[in-house]
Amino acid sequence: MPIATVNPATGETLKTFDAFTAEEVEQRLARAEAAFREYRTTGFDTRADLMRAAAALLEKEQDEIARTMTTEMGKTLAAARAEAVKCAKAMRWYAERAEGLLADEYPSPHDVEDSGGIAAHVRYRPLGVVLAVMPWNFPLWQVVRFAAPALMAGNVGLLKHASNVPQTALYLGDLFRRAGFPDGCFQTLLIGSAEVEKVLRDPRVAAATLTGSEPAGRAVARVAGDEVKKTVLELGGSDPYIVMPSADLARAAQTAVTARTQNNGQSCIAAKRFLAHDAVHDDFARRFTDAMAALTVGDPMRDGTDVGPLSSEQGRADLEELVDDATAKGATVLCGGRRPQKATRGWYYEPTVLAGVTPAMRIHHEEAFGPVATLYRVADLDAAVALANDTPFGLSSNVWTNDPEEQRRFAADLEAGGVFFNGMTASHPAMPFGGVKRSGYGRELAGHGIHEFCNATTVWYG
Ligand code: NDP
Repeated sequence: MPIATVNPATGETLKTFDAFTAEEVEQRLARAEAAFREYRTTGFDTRADLMRAAAALLEKEQDEIARTMTTEMGKTLAAARAEAVKCAKAMRWYAERAEGLLADEYPSPHDVEDSGGIAAHVRYRPLGVVLAVMPWNFPLWQVVRFAAPALMAGNVGLLKHASNVPQTALYLGDLFRRAGFPDGCFQTLLIGSAEVEKVLRDPRVAAATLTGSEPAGRAVARVAGDEVKKTVLELGGSDPYIVMPSADLARAAQTAVTARTQNNGQSCIAAKRFLAHDAVHDDFARRFTDAMAALTVGDPMRDGTDVGPLSSEQGRADLEELVDDATAKGATVLCGGRRPQKATRGWYYEPTVLAGVTPAMRIHHEEAFGPVATLYRVADLDAAVALANDTPFGLSSNVWTNDPEEQRRFAADLEAGGVFFNGMTASHPAMPFGGVKRSGYGRELAGHGIHEFCNATTVWYG
């Protein structure tokens, strides 16, 4: 895949970049290693000041970087601006909290007594150079969600971003440098995916984190496993969105539209499978389909656009294949199911609702990375749980119910890294984010995220 900015709204190639030479990669690896030796000794106050400076720059430059993101991957300008602001907030959150989250931990008085008076504690030390392989869908947020905790913990970062967001990738390296982080603390590598293995096997790289597709995650985890290096994987999702009879149907349907079409439908935590209880199915289906059909699809730079283009021609082709496979096997198109008739260029696809989906169809098991929803009718709670769990993925889940007993059951039984009631999945710095099953392992954000790339060291005094 060429490293280039190709505007998904027009298909035009705007700027191409040469991949770094082996020598250029080597220089950055050497710089990262040298930076870590010094940076690991800095105090939390210093790191926090730098992180706050990065947050302030990002806020100041939000309009400019938002335009770059929209140009490179097609999200609406409003969504891109909101992403920049969210990143600045997360940076400040970790600047504020890192010292407390990584404070030394002491055994309980009971354990001290029980073990004959041990004098010991746990000290969280950084691991070193961490390689981040990141996707284009939230080109700032996916990176910051890793970088803020990793840098606050004293690690240094190397970013291999998706090949279609090179300008955003370069901006990120530049942002941390301009904020005052020492040279080499956070660097962008302009390399293709074929070069990742070499970087990951380099002894100067301690660990890796990847957000993206399952094949990419598997490739990186395989190499990291071979090298016995720690990884965190945040892969795809096909989150269920369950609507039970006690739900506020108007809100459930409206939120369902946002949950499915946010980021032009290209989000790992987008709700993708909609499971409505028999008692409310028809009402929900009507409201949801009407609202999906009413969305404005068009130029992501323009105010009032709800859904922009997909990020690549291949992305749209993949989505079309999933829909075509389903309809060929008997699924019904309630709305959409095709490219907008008016769009003559750009990789647009109409918001789509499919009913009558069966396990024989690929879309039942695979992630639909675009504005396509599948709608199912379920007889009761047990059927909803069984169908919700009938997926290789386990990232998050959404349930609309006001019944406390149902909430208890869903929270206990849904196989996912999150269960969100009466709302849609969202990530928040204070709460861990990640999945089970084929959605990956490890957690980002919160205390869990900052501990992932730390060496929890037992310090024992005899
Ligand atoms: P990929 O998973 O291919 O790309 C994500 C990142 O991984 C990119 O930086 C990519 O680099 C890199 N990468 C890809 N293959 C390898 C490899 N073998 N070894 C090392 N690094 C690799 O996502 P795509 O853009 O191709 O999207 C394909 C599908 O992945 C989507 O349709 C969606 O289902 C899923 N996806 C899920 C995301 C999520 O948030 N869960 C995000 C993005 C995609 P390069 O760009 O150079 O190929």
